[in-house]
Amino acid sequence: MELWFTEEHTKNARFSIKVKRALFNKTSDFQRIDIFESEEYGRFLTLDGYMMLTEKDEFIYHEMIVHVPMCAKKDAKNILVIGGGDGGTARELLRYDTIENIDLVEIDEDVVLSCKEYLPFVAKSLDDERVHIFYEDGLKFVRRYENAYDMIIVDSTDPFGPGEGLFTKEFYGNCYKALKKDGVLVNQHESPFYENDAAACQRAHKRIADSFPISRVYSAHIPSYPSGHWLFGFASKNIHPVKDADFDYWNTLGIKTKYYNTNLHKGAFYLPSYVWDLLEEVEK
Ligand code: SAM
Repeated sequence: MELWFTEEHTKNARFSIKVKRALFNKTSDFQRIDIFESEEYGRFLTLDGYMMLTEKDEFIYHEMIVHVPMCAKKDAKNILVIGGGDGGTARELLRYDTIENIDLVEIDEDVVLSCKEYLPFVAKSLDDERVHIFYEDGLKFVRRYENAYDMIIVDSTDPFGPGEGLFTKEFYGNCYKALKKDGVLVNQHESPFYENDAAACQRAHKRIADSFPISRVYSAHIPSYPSGHWLFGFASKNIHPVKDADFDYWNTLGIKTKYYNTNLHKGAFYLPSYVWDLLEEVEK
């Protein structure tokens, strides 16, 4: 008997992966957590039935959500990660000796515990002495800080359930306050392809663009995410993601990556016309 994991991308489009075995499942106080093993994508994590990461393609998402802002803001020392309980974002951040502290605010401790047990390729970083985990709602956590962080990376679930508050104007306004004057906010910015995802992307973009003077969007191809076309937001008070990036310096760091490179960094901010139109529709 074959076992398949299927994620509904729309009412009329689904994505399925053949499963070798289910490794873990638990309904926590916040969501249903499942970890599976598969032929094609290796081990993968889903939350409430939505794909979070797979062993095969997580490098794309985690490299792009970290190395783009770290190349644009090479002096970042104090980082706030909201979400990211699987550890992939922290793993990529820890490759920079210049980073002194990573506060990781994950609402669900069960995600951290299950990823540490079954997904060591991402979660091994969470025991690093530079990583400090806070098990609480990122929306509330960020209210407490002003002029504190060089970078905030919002590695959250989608804008419903526990992640909903992380796509609000209040949240982005509090991120603005919590960032230093030359701080940078990066967020997973949903997808432009399917109608519902595009609407979520537009809402997030408008709220960020209303909160930050510089607000740009870049993209990557992530096969296991809906449509594969995924976006990231880059916002700041005065740092431009390409003009202020020090590509020569980044290339001297010797950080070996499988997806990110400094040429792709520039190209990622050039978007398809339909995506430009989607974003410009909600910009002032
Ligand atoms: N890369 C994935 C994506 O793009 O969907 C996200 C991965 S990570 C597992 C998402 C994490 O955000 C989850 O562990 C979830 O528990 C956490 N999360 C959701 N809402 C949160 C909130 N309000 N505060 C802190 N963490 C939250």
